[in-house]
Amino acid sequence: MLVAGAGIAGLAAALDLAEAGLTVELLETAPQAGGRCRSFYDPVTGHRLDNGTHVLLGANPAALDFVRRVGGRFRELPAIYPAVALDGPGGEITGRHAIRLGSPVQLMRSLGLGAGDLLALAGLLLDGRVNGPLGTARPGLLSRKLGQAVLAPLVRAALNIDPAAADARLVARMLRRLALAGPRGFRLHLAEGGLDAALIAPAVARLRALGVRLYPTTPLDRLPPPDPDRMIVLALPPAAAHRLLPNITVPRASSAILNIHYAPDQLPAGMPEALMVTGGMADWIFHRDGILSITTSAADALMDRPAEVLAATGWAEIRTCLAMAGLPAAMPPVRVVKEKRATMRHDPGGEALRPGPVDRTRPRPDVVLAGDWTATGLPATIEGAVVSGQRAAAAVLRRR
Ligand SMILES: Cc1cc2nc3c(=O)[nH]c(=O)nc-3n(C[C@H](O)[C@H](O)[C@H](O)COP(=O)(O)OP(=O)(O)OC[C@H]3O[C@@H](n4cnc5c(N)ncnc54)[C@H](O)[C@@H]3O)c2cc1C
Repeated sequence: MLVAGAGIAGLAAALDLAEAGLTVELLETAPQAGGRCRSFYDPVTGHRLDNGTHVLLGANPAALDFVRRVGGRFRELPAIYPAVALDGPGGEITGRHAIRLGSPVQLMRSLGLGAGDLLALAGLLLDGRVNGPLGTARPGLLSRKLGQAVLAPLVRAALNIDPAAADARLVARMLRRLALAGPRGFRLHLAEGGLDAALIAPAVARLRALGVRLYPTTPLDRLPPPDPDRMIVLALPPAAAHRLLPNITVPRASSAILNIHYAPDQLPAGMPEALMVTGGMADWIFHRDGILSITTSAADALMDRPAEVLAATGWAEIRTCLAMAGLPAAMPPVRVVKEKRATMRHDPGGEALRPGPVDRTRPRPDVVLAGDWTATGLPATIEGAVVSGQRAAAAVLRRR
């Protein structure tokens, strides 16, 4: 068995195939596994940083189970966390509240939302035929308090797109999953000690223990000739998969994510681990292992701005939002990470191009696709990547 691509999808496929007793070779073009989910040593801050703070939700059963199976460590955050509204990037505070991540009803109450909001949400959630961009399919929903306080931040974080442009069907599907997951579905989980320590290194160790041979710095440049005894899982980014299989459709457009990591000398005790921000540049401020990080999803418009400008705006927002911490005005050592092609773009056009793992019309029936951009019915997230890898492995095992 050949698996190409040692991102989360390739690691998940390799795990299922190796556990089923197959001999697996895993080719990866980069020097390390992990793909878009990776850590690196940064000499400026003197810390090992993640390319982006990755969050799992309680409603990500496949991802959390994958973490458990490989012996990884994601920690569930407390059920209450603070949220701050700003009047613009680097601006002043216009409101503070504490979000209670309990049941949907508790969540609605903690945000001051009422029955009308709940009905509007239920209308979207239960509409099996909704389609088009959210802003057109449900005009007015995003300008309600519900839209601003809950839906927009959720869609930005999970679908990485301006909420009005997001595919309404995918949003409705995500909301149904959250509702079915129950109160714990809303809880956030963070990688303990960073992505490499919490997930990638344990996954690679588990695969090696199962006899998987991982070949870093070894790209799959062309498909080997068909061999009935050897199936191939392509767990590659869309453009790389398309180069090898030009007849498949792949989503071309992508959305960016901005992360900025600050390493202050000292941080006071009792800082929140996660703080939601609306109205500013940051969507989230995270605090982990002495590092303060901001994350901005759907950050395409910020990609061309100079790193120093972004870092200064981000630091101003952190100081304002965490005023109680008395952080110094001088900016600490900082690393700006711009991921231009962080995920596929989840608009209706992009959704229509996501291929399934197996396509009967494909000239290479020995090749199966995986990757967060394939048609999982999920947003391009760790959950989607794990599900895609598991589906690809199941397709391989069915054909044996
Ligand atoms: C900044 C950022 C923040 C994010 N935050 C979150 C989050 O909070 N929560 C969440 O769930 N998700 C988040 N995501 C999304 C998540 O990282 C991805 O959904 C997931 O990592 C995708 O995994 P994948 O295996 O599908 O793809 P990839 O990670 O892209 O893996 C593909 C692999 O194929 C390799 N490759 C490419 N060409 C070849 C070739 N020819 N031969 C062999 N190998 C090749 C690549 O090097 C790569 O390792 C975030 C992503 C980014 C970038």
